[in-house]
Amino acid sequence: MRYPFGRQTRLSKSNAPPDGKQFPMSVKPKVGTWYIVVTCHKCKVTLFLFRDLTDGTGSLSATYLVTCPRCGHHGEYEGRHYQDMASD
Ligand SMILES: [Zn+2]
Repeated sequence: MRYPFGRQTRLSKSNAPPDGKQFPMSVKPKVGTWYIVVTCHKCKVTLFLFRDLTDGTGSLSATYLVTCPRCGHHGEYEGRHYQDMASD
């Protein structure tokens, strides 16, 4: 009988919400799909937080604490609806 050496229980892992998804999203947005986005105060990049399941019709009253993956700026933002459109 072997004892399972080297196994560690990872109780806490920062930088990720409990469901394990990335926040903000790192995937490319799909054309025609609504998202909740914020704009980084520092480098002005658009950060996609998550899918907007209301297709732009819902009201937003939440602020989100977001760390910009590009410049590392940490700030509080009010999300807004954004639909990714084809450029041509
Ligand atoms: Zn930034």
